[in-house]
Amino acid sequence: MTDIEPRTDGGLEWTYAPAPESRAIVSFEERYGLYVGGETVEPRSGEWFTSASPATEEPLAEVAQAGPEDVDLAVGAARAGYETWSGLRPSERAKYLFRIARILQERARELAVAESLDGGKPIKESRDVDLPLAAAHFFYHAGWADKLEYAFPNRRPRPLGVAAQIIPWNFPLLMLAWKVAPALACGNSVVLKPAETTPLTALLFADVCRQAELPPGAVNIITGDGSTGAELVRHTGIDKVAFTGSTEVGKAIQRELAGRGVPHTLELGGKAANIVFEDCALDQAIEGIVNGIYFNQGHVCCAGSRLLVQESILEPLLGKLRGRLSTLRLGDPLDKNTDIGAINSRAQLDRITELVESGQAEGAELYQPACELPERGYWFPPTVFTNVAQSFRIAQEEIFGPVLSVMTFRTPAEAVDKANNTAYGLSAGVWTEKGSRILWMAARLRAGVVWANTFNRFDPASPFGGYKESGFGREGGRHGLEAYLGFEG
Ligand code: ADP
Repeated sequence: MTDIEPRTDGGLEWTYAPAPESRAIVSFEERYGLYVGGETVEPRSGEWFTSASPATEEPLAEVAQAGPEDVDLAVGAARAGYETWSGLRPSERAKYLFRIARILQERARELAVAESLDGGKPIKESRDVDLPLAAAHFFYHAGWADKLEYAFPNRRPRPLGVAAQIIPWNFPLLMLAWKVAPALACGNSVVLKPAETTPLTALLFADVCRQAELPPGAVNIITGDGSTGAELVRHTGIDKVAFTGSTEVGKAIQRELAGRGVPHTLELGGKAANIVFEDCALDQAIEGIVNGIYFNQGHVCCAGSRLLVQESILEPLLGKLRGRLSTLRLGDPLDKNTDIGAINSRAQLDRITELVESGQAEGAELYQPACELPERGYWFPPTVFTNVAQSFRIAQEEIFGPVLSVMTFRTPAEAVDKANNTAYGLSAGVWTEKGSRILWMAARLRAGVVWANTFNRFDPASPFGGYKESGFGREGGRHGLEAYLGFEG
């Protein structure tokens, strides 16, 4: 439906009428305890914190802040859970995973609304990306559960034990699925800690586990801030750590685990190059650029935050990009027409603002479309920087917000040099009509994923992970299973 509104110059303009998704489908409890051994328990710490909506600053629920004693209980419950879970026939484990996948599908709308409320992402993304992919991860890994011998012939795979899993706030339920599904499929039990700004869908997932009648202790969910995560990593009862988050915390975790012989996988930051050649299909590339950096407000570790454009098409590309930006709708995450939702937290908004200011101070040219920001909540308009030198902070540091830095190149070799001139190596994009050039580029880009004529595409069968400071280990596909298994012989 559309409305016609008078323009200030007296003309008429078509605009979208509000199309809010109903939030009635979600009822949060006032308080959530910890999910330990199949039960909800009060935190021994006696401490709680509030999870709020970043779009309105409205408090949504109180959540437990797990302390050392709580972490210990959860690891103990996961040890007991491991005995049961790893003793089940693999085909039995598969049934539970299929059940969880189906419940996620059945409750998809509720979970999508909860995700948008707690994290600020547009409902069309949580509905069309986060939830379908989370369910797909459980379906995919359900399929593997009784076929591990075939995935690793002659290597006799066995589970590792208790997996400690720490996830970030940008794709709360999807990151949970990336972690929990392969761990369970391989016969491990789990202690999962969601991020402190987005714990609610993980707590709803505890209810999904209950509904699926998952054996107690196979999945345990403890909430809290970084200190809870650090306590979990320090615990001597864990057999594996899987972490997704900032490079800084990843390094701290690695330091803590040094010498302990606990296998770990780290999926950290990124500063991906999205490389556009003059022979590309320009309109498609514009969509890929927009999707690459403005999807999920740029809170994406593999976001295409450095746009490398072949010099000959810089001006036409920028013209089209500016035009496209003016059509993006920023606002209420629960409105089905919203393209750009809220920034996840005040702290993240401050970080983005500081880096954008540094870009201006270093001499880059800023472009933002006319865009009204809501009064309450945390918001940042879609932003493009031109005149960017490779040495600028906005070209080097991960901003994790809707901010694009544009640079140019002349030859494919120069594009590769510039793309690889980063401490990170998570992803890259190449836009060209020439197949041989895609292969030539992909072979030289130091990035775990290289997308060709697309961006931000995910599939549970496709391994995802980084080079250099983007971390190590892969999630998804056969490679992802390997991270949750030990091998005899
Ligand atoms: P960001 O900087 O983007 O918020 P973080 O890396 O700080 O990302 O957070 C990712 C996850 O790591 C969150 O669940 C957070 O609570 C957790 N975390 C933060 N500090 C630590 C730490 N020292 N040890 C373990 N986990 C931590």
